[in-house]
Amino acid sequence: MPVECIDLRSDTVTCPTDAMRAAMAAAEVGDDVYGEDPTVNALQDRLAGELGFDAALFVPSGTQSNLVALLAHCARGDEYLVGMDAHTYKYEGGGAAVLGGIQPQPLAHASDGTLPLDAVEAAIKPDDAHFARTRLLCLENTWHGRPMPPGYLADARALCDRRGLALHLDGARLFNAAVAQDVPVRDIARHFDSVSVCLSKGLGAPVGSVLLGSAALIAQARRWRKVTGGGMRQAGMLAAGALHALDHHVDRLAEDHDRAARLAAALTALGVEVTGQHTNMVFVQVAPASTASLVEHMAAAGVWLSPGSEGKLRLVLHLDVDDAGLKRVVDAWAGFRG
Ligand SMILES: *Cc1c(COP(=O)(O)O)cnc(C)c1O
Repeated sequence: MPVECIDLRSDTVTCPTDAMRAAMAAAEVGDDVYGEDPTVNALQDRLAGELGFDAALFVPSGTQSNLVALLAHCARGDEYLVGMDAHTYKYEGGGAAVLGGIQPQPLAHASDGTLPLDAVEAAIKPDDAHFARTRLLCLENTWHGRPMPPGYLADARALCDRRGLALHLDGARLFNAAVAQDVPVRDIARHFDSVSVCLSKGLGAPVGSVLLGSAALIAQARRWRKVTGGGMRQAGMLAAGALHALDHHVDRLAEDHDRAARLAAALTALGVEVTGQHTNMVFVQVAPASTASLVEHMAAAGVWLSPGSEGKLRLVLHLDVDDAGLKRVVDAWAGFRG
């Protein structure tokens, strides 16, 4: 992408900075399938410590991280409870069913993205040969940019303990949640048996996610990572980018959240219907019939938007959008005559 473009489609579009590339080029490496890559090991140890888990596993993507977690928690004929719009249900190609014979039980979300715990409890199947065995509850935080309320997480944990379920977090943007709530990531992670975090979203690393869990769970996940083709060799070059991101790009997430708030305010002032703003995401509703011309108008001004559906657009702030970029977005939008 030419530098002049401002890409608001996602926070996955960030490119490694010069300093990150230098750290990657200098990385000490080894064969990670043998467990011998010192930089991968350092990344895994660091995140395990920060999030309060025994063990961690570096994987190529968030999708694979969630997949190997599901495969480690559940066997064939088991079931996980999950939001009907959750990434782990809707956007991962049905991998757990395809590869693990694991049945999803999708549940409706409340308006804040939580899964009402009475509905969760009602969906737990009795121990009976007619039913899949309900093993796991999966949550997602942030949810469409929104950090989950801490009290909800504690209640979900208590329910899982009472009913013998494991609890997994798709924490693709866990660091955004922690920064927004001004708590250590550990405070959120401590409710879960396993947590997946993405380094390649707002944190700005080019590739990679990490799954956290007990030593036994991560040993299972490591096996599934190999089976699913995710065992990488001198992956320390990638892990070095992730370590650089953890050193330099966590606190600055607050800047993205601040710019998202300013973008929401500026668009509101232009008369645009802003339907929500949480952490680094702004949601707007435009006339469905004018979406295509808006996207085209903005692209001509060097601003890339995802067309969404039915006029609902998601604008995502990240490392590669600074104040000058933000101004260009607002100026370009102000010039749209839809
Ligand atoms: C991006 C994302 C993932 C998956 O990450 P990939 O690296 O793109 O596979 C999982 N969950 C959520 C909520 C995400 O936003």
